[in-house]
Amino acid sequence: MAQERKLFGILAHPVGHSMSPIMHNEAFAKLGLAYYYHPFDVPPIHLADAVQALKALGIAGVNVTIPHKESIIPYLDHLDPEAEAIGAVNTVVLTQEGRLKGYNTDGAGYIQSLRKETGIELNHKKVLMLGAGGAAKAIGVYLLKEGIAELVIANRTKEKAVRLAQHLKRYQERRADKQAKGEQTISVLDWPLVQQTGGEGFQLIINTTSVGMWPHVDQSPLALKGLGSDTVVSDIVYNPRETLFLKQAKAQGAKIHYGLGMLIYQGALAFKLFTGYEAPVNTMEAAVRRFLEENR
Ligand code: NAP
Repeated sequence: MAQERKLFGILAHPVGHSMSPIMHNEAFAKLGLAYYYHPFDVPPIHLADAVQALKALGIAGVNVTIPHKESIIPYLDHLDPEAEAIGAVNTVVLTQEGRLKGYNTDGAGYIQSLRKETGIELNHKKVLMLGAGGAAKAIGVYLLKEGIAELVIANRTKEKAVRLAQHLKRYQERRADKQAKGEQTISVLDWPLVQQTGGEGFQLIINTTSVGMWPHVDQSPLALKGLGSDTVVSDIVYNPRETLFLKQAKAQGAKIHYGLGMLIYQGALAFKLFTGYEAPVNTMEAAVRRFLEENR
């Protein structure tokens, strides 16, 4: 019997740099699935039509990235609670009833890879998060879900850190599971002040800014100070694999967490939503590493 064919893709603008097509197509091949993943370059003006086309053409699922992660929400029929809390969608699935449901796998992907690479137990931890952009929002929601004790946000543009802290506090208040409520604090630290202290006193320090990303590989978002072997330092920048920030952390004896893991695990979680199968994570990782090496 012929295998069922399905089409998946990514909606982005521009889409040229995306690694999702090779990651998913190689994973489909590994599992022997007759599925194909296509990069769709969708300018914002055509987003509404593109979303309608998913239904009309029966496209089984798409990833969504810059600049559509937030603007796609009004066009979807359902939203997963975490995507709603984050306020952004990176995965859309066409349900059997022909409805579009939005998910966000960035935060969960981040946590999975952080755990796998460092073994960290997040419960009751004191966390410093550098940056207050889209990725910070997804990670912030999941850190709170994981029961950290304290989240301190520092961002070059302070108003954005304040807005993110307010967003996360509203999320905390709405959460049905109130277990950790009252024990978790969210605050903002001035960027110059965090530069003075160098992140001392935190058990987990995360860079969610784009500082250090290729070609600016000689830049670091923070001159780290006073780290111990029990400090975990994490960078979501994945190109280069080991940023200057992570090199500094390693030199001080901290445990480090690479950004590539988040990319792979957000993709692996999307793959599961698309296909119902566990993703072949090693295949996806090998595809991404090869792509980065070839396109350096
Ligand atoms: P975004 O929404 O545009 O946010 C960018 C953040 O970086 C803001 O907080 C911004 O601060 C800060 N920033 C930029 N240049 C800076 C500088 N020179 N000094 C200090 N802060 C600076 O971007 P995003 O989507 O959150 O992505 C952020 C980074 O994460 C990118 O490098 C992206 O490639 C990476 N990322 C990785 C993954 C993964 O899977 N590993 C997933 C998503 C994103 P201001 O508010 O002051 O501008």
